[in-house]
Amino acid sequence: KNSNGNYTVTFIEGDGIGPEISRSVKEIFSAAKVPIEWETVDVTPILKDGKTAIPDAAIQSVKKNYVALKGPLATPIGKGHVSLNLTLRRTFNLFANVRPCRSVPGYKTPYDNVDTVLIRENTEGEYSGIEHEVVDGVVQSIKLITRKASERVLRFGFQYAESIGKQHVRVVHKATIMKMSDGLFVSTARDVAKDFPQIEFDTELLDNTCLKMVTDPKVYQPMVLVMPNLYGDIVSDMCAGLIGGLGLTPSANIGDECSIFEAVHGSAPDIAGKDLANPTALLLSSMMMLQHMGLGAHADKITKAIMDTLAEGKSITGDLGGNATNSQYAQAIIAKL
Ligand code: NAD
Repeated sequence: KNSNGNYTVTFIEGDGIGPEISRSVKEIFSAAKVPIEWETVDVTPILKDGKTAIPDAAIQSVKKNYVALKGPLATPIGKGHVSLNLTLRRTFNLFANVRPCRSVPGYKTPYDNVDTVLIRENTEGEYSGIEHEVVDGVVQSIKLITRKASERVLRFGFQYAESIGKQHVRVVHKATIMKMSDGLFVSTARDVAKDFPQIEFDTELLDNTCLKMVTDPKVYQPMVLVMPNLYGDIVSDMCAGLIGGLGLTPSANIGDECSIFEAVHGSAPDIAGKDLANPTALLLSSMMMLQHMGLGAHADKITKAIMDTLAEGKSITGDLGGNATNSQYAQAIIAKL
């Protein structure tokens, strides 16, 4: 809390649609009188020792405030560029990525009972960035799995399941093929599970999870799914598709000290600057942030206004089949507050 009795939170608005959807979050927070003051920081990459890096001021702001809300950051394509998203995750050791997906009541999709919570290992696995060329035409990419990082995310998975009242943790893997790497993830999970005897634990093969998820998603409602990095990335987008797309799915990057909340989607360059984006995913990420900060009552109030606006369907954005602009949708939420 700062001297005004408000919480200071770092805001990284991001690229593409980032500034537009960030504006909506700020407007809705002030209309709802949430006791938060934003510290907006610029993360335009700088060159440090010949490598792209995040400006120190941004790093210091997150370190000081412990909590940040973040818009999407475009990853420059080409040699020598490191993804800023990966850099942020590594800098703050954001080891777990929590991705809930819940059907929006009143918004029609093939299934109306989706309620999944997926936790993705966020620091290693297939995203370790260790790739090299063996000889011309032959490259190798290393999937790194450590007991330490696996244990950390798995332990968090069990704790998180308990905290949201789910009595079941399922680990999704492919240890039949990746016997050592996914095998280590699974055997670590079995060890961690012993510390949580009150929570049911089992494992499932990734392909089976995908099949069942799109056939009958309600099977996954009572549990939290925990999985290595790449699987979590892909399965969570699949879950997003079940509830109406990337415009609706939030996420939380949890670290030892700091946590950064962000939408699952990217910078959507195809619609940037046109006031067409759906700010719901970033908004719901900011609701996860409020819950994390112990400001659940504010989150409940705003979430209700968001859900009512979506269910009414009068002022929804193009990705959901409506014809409202981002700003009109935000105003409709504010009217309900
Ligand atoms: P994307 O998520 O930006 O877009 C995919 C599709 O979904 C596009 O058609 C886009 O218009 C649509 N979409 C996404 N968010 C939307 C929203 N809020 N409202 C309405 N429609 C939305 O994925 P991409 O095109 O593969 O990536 C674009 C850039 O974003 C790349 O540079 C990528 O590296 C980056 N990216 C960043 C993050 C992040 O910051 N966490 C995540 C994913 C991608």
